Amino acid sequence: MFDVVVIGGGVVGGLLLRKLSSYNLKICLLEKEGDVAMGQSKANSGIVHAGFDAKPNSLKAKFNVLGNKMMKKVTEELGVKYLPNGSLVVAFSNEEVETLKELLKRGEQNGVDGLKIVYGEELFALEPNLNRTALAGLVASTGGIVCPYELTIASIGNAMDNGAELFTDFEVVKIEKGDFYTITSSNGEKVQAKVVVNCAGAGSQKIANLVGDYSFKIGFRKGEYLLLDKESGNFTKRTLFFTPTKKGKGILISPTVDGNLLLGPTAEEIENCDTQTTKDGLKTVIEKAKEMCQNVPVYNVITSFTGVRAYSDRHDFIIEESKHSKNFILVAGVESPGLTSAPAIAEFVVDEIVKNMLVLTKKENFNPIRKPDYFFSKLTIEEKNEIIKKDSSYGRIICRCEQITEGEIVRALTENPKAKDLDGVKRRTRSGMGRCQGGFCQPYITEIIARERGISLGEVTKKGKNYTLLVGKTKLEIVI
Ligand SMILES: Cc1cc2nc3c(=O)[nH]c(=O)nc-3n(C[C@H](O)[C@H](O)[C@H](O)COP(=O)(O)OP(=O)(O)OC[C@H]3O[C@@H](n4cnc5c(N)ncnc54)[C@H](O)[C@@H]3O)c2cc1C
Repeated sequence: MFDVVVIGGGVVGGLLLRKLSSYNLKICLLEKEGDVAMGQSKANSGIVHAGFDAKPNSLKAKFNVLGNKMMKKVTEELGVKYLPNGSLVVAFSNEEVETLKELLKRGEQNGVDGLKIVYGEELFALEPNLNRTALAGLVASTGGIVCPYELTIASIGNAMDNGAELFTDFEVVKIEKGDFYTITSSNGEKVQAKVVVNCAGAGSQKIANLVGDYSFKIGFRKGEYLLLDKESGNFTKRTLFFTPTKKGKGILISPTVDGNLLLGPTAEEIENCDTQTTKDGLKTVIEKAKEMCQNVPVYNVITSFTGVRAYSDRHDFIIEESKHSKNFILVAGVESPGLTSAPAIAEFVVDEIVKNMLVLTKKENFNPIRKPDYFFSKLTIEEKNEIIKKDSSYGRIICRCEQITEGEIVRALTENPKAKDLDGVKRRTRSGMGRCQGGFCQPYITEIIARERGISLGEVTKKGKNYTLLVGKTKLEIVI
């Protein structure tokens, strides 16, 4: 019997699990996919929003501003890359300049520090690649960037190191309520819990329905992106936004914490979680990016991807005990700025909701620190040599583009939460994320996965259980 079961291995469920693991509680996380960070927390803009965008007094505004303030400490503890690069909302008309003034006022109401509007040459001095038709910009010095899946994986790993359990390939399909909850997966496995927290993102409506809660609906909005090579990583310093309209924030141009340049996302209402990129979507991204910066180096695109936003019909975060099922907590409709807000949401759920359901006592030996290990290429030559002396596998570069060593790949396969497939290794180490997109390193990584997991090459998958890569051997003697 678990004290708390968290459903959904995204950034919200992950940071919540970590917070819960600092108390003397028996806890676990259930994730329907074969790995964590497979939903919205895998594919998004990675912006740590300052907090001027959300309506004052909304949960989005509250948790955005709090989460932004917590991000530095959380990422330091978890060894996750975070860069407070600041953001700039750009106005191209007098009407948009007026909107900037409203955003500034709204930001101040929300408690955002470091906001100011700059005009003309002051604006271009900040971002020289901006189109000269820009009139003004709202500078937010507290804006930043983070890698969303790195944060998710690290928080779940840290929670597991502190005693939490993780069940992947556990799609929740049934929840029964007696004196406690019995949760059943599509494979027929069962876990029992005193308290359940629904952090299932796109699946949160279905999960709520399983306990008779029909109080909200989830809609889907697709966002397509282009990622540019590191050669273009310094194209802008800050994250550049268009002035928001009723339709939303529009596309952005932003450096990433790993030194690439990101363009996107589009915003298209869809029926379900369709993650295909489209010619039209990517064309829109390029056209819009050029409206911001005419010389944006789109020739440097190395990949494209899609993220799907799961928003609720309440148009705010839903963070409350279900009115239909006692000790069942809803953390749903966590669309943007959900990544930014996640650390603060996790604290609130435990300190303000779980605390009324269970007796919480601090775990004396809780260790909040998860040492970074995947930034080997950033170390000095002396530091590298010291590590290689202890473990020679760190002396063998597997991914040439990103300079990732065999040691780092082995660690991804053996450290909590363990990678099982190529994409899992990729998200943990960045191997295959460079210019060649895995063209050179994928066969070597496949071999390492097979060796470390004790499986055949043919059993190694790209992602999940069924997406195998190798169908047979080449160079076999052909008998005619
Ligand atoms: C295109 C896009 C851009 C964004 N940009 C930003 C940004 O720049 N800054 C920012 O702050 N926020 C941003 N966001 C929002 C942010 O990504 C989300 O708020 C955040 O990732 C939500 O995390 P989550 O854990 O609630 O959901 P998710 O990451 O979606 O996790 C939910 C998990 O639940 C699992 N699940 C679903 N159903 C079941 C089931 N039946 N059983 C078991 N598991 C289940 C899913 O597989 C998934 O892993 C963006 C979102 C998108 C899509």
